[in-house]
Amino acid sequence: MDIEHPSITRALLTGYPEQEPIDVCANPDCEKAIFTGDQVWAKGSERYCKLKCLADSFENKEEEING
Ligand SMILES: [Zn+2]
Repeated sequence: MDIEHPSITRALLTGYPEQEPIDVCANPDCEKAIFTGDQVWAKGSERYCKLKCLADSFENKEEEING
């Protein structure tokens, strides 16, 4: 199940977003720009662009415990 990124929807509606990104996704494999008003998934001070990126961060933690 893949959730479409809100900035993509906004780009379709209003053209390319003109805002400066406020943050980037904390998933090092993603690092997608995050804009004001975007749906984000927060873990502490880290922000993720989608639930999969957040879930991946937990999977990486589990690997540390096992390894
Ligand atoms: Zn991401």
